[in-house]
Amino acid sequence: MNIPFLDLQATYTELKIDIDAAVKRVLDSGFYILGPEVETFESEFAHFCEAQFCVGVGNGLDAIYIALKSLGIGSGDEVLVPANTYIATWLAVSQCGAIPVPIEPSIDTNNIDPSLFSKSVTKKTKAIIAVHLYGQPAPLDEILKFAKEFNLKVIEDAAQAHGASYKGQRIGAHSDMVTWSFYPGKNLGAFGDGGAITTNNEGLAKKAAVMRNYGSERKYVNDVKGLNSRLDPLQAAILRVKLSKLDEWNVRRTEIAKTYDDAFGPAGFYIPKQGSGCRSSWHLYVLRHSKRNDIVKALDDLGVSALIHYPIPPHLQKAYSSLGYVRGDFPIAEKLSDEVFSLPIGPHLSIENMHRVVESVLKVAS
Ligand SMILES: *Cc1c(COP(=O)(O)O)cnc(C)c1O
Repeated sequence: MNIPFLDLQATYTELKIDIDAAVKRVLDSGFYILGPEVETFESEFAHFCEAQFCVGVGNGLDAIYIALKSLGIGSGDEVLVPANTYIATWLAVSQCGAIPVPIEPSIDTNNIDPSLFSKSVTKKTKAIIAVHLYGQPAPLDEILKFAKEFNLKVIEDAAQAHGASYKGQRIGAHSDMVTWSFYPGKNLGAFGDGGAITTNNEGLAKKAAVMRNYGSERKYVNDVKGLNSRLDPLQAAILRVKLSKLDEWNVRRTEIAKTYDDAFGPAGFYIPKQGSGCRSSWHLYVLRHSKRNDIVKALDDLGVSALIHYPIPPHLQKAYSSLGYVRGDFPIAEKLSDEVFSLPIGPHLSIENMHRVVESVLKVAS
């Protein structure tokens, strides 16, 4: 029996009755774009994130793009971004006509290292995007302090951090705008695309709400060049059901992470180190090993699916060849992409399969 990386169907099986009812409710309602279901999800998710406002959008990439546009980032501006992140973080910056400026991570936490900001900041720098990579909050105190000193905006890309917290407060409103993805594999995932922005700034929430809907507050009156990126009410209804399970599912992920830490720390792996005051959502459980490729292949032979997040850092992607970076420019990000691998940690991973993952990893690494 193979152990999948993530069993998405199991979430539907667990919640089938409630999800079917939610879908039917939307179909019966006559509201198929925005409307009450989206508004209710927005207020429930804002409440969950300890934020005042939430704007539902089409996906996580658009959420970052809309946040950047709402903050006035545009052509020629520079935005500090992690050198190691999913490429969406960079693409949103490029879509605004701005330039992503890569910052190396800390090798221990995998998150952006604020002590390196001052080397890369210029007169053109307008914002920082902090990514809570793998679900672990980035060092927000240091990031926000630097941003204040240099008058920069801060966006958190929280696509992997639903339910995580920093210094006792949920991720959701520490910075100017916090962006979310509800891609099916995220901790809070839809059964299709979805995304959101949370913030405590009413003006910015309003700008984002206008931007996602053709730049129009009143129908056929367009104040800005917006886009069509609205959270689908069917997905909003499904997300409301899943949101009620999120804390319980994250507890399960945390228990699995603890079991993995206890098994792999003593066995010579680099286990994920937690930053101070950080409570991870454990979106991914990421180990690091110099023989990564052999280990992933051997695990696959044993029926354990391990994935790599991410095998090529954005600065070495063909899509970014125009920036002129070469291998060696960001050695920490490159080392991580050569050595990291992620183990199954979904909330529906059975205890038996969790132990099989542990035994398999210890076996192939010995
Ligand atoms: C998933 C993800 C995104 C993009 O989300 P989509 O909904 O797929 O557009 C952005 N940033 C990070 C860090 C992600 O993990």
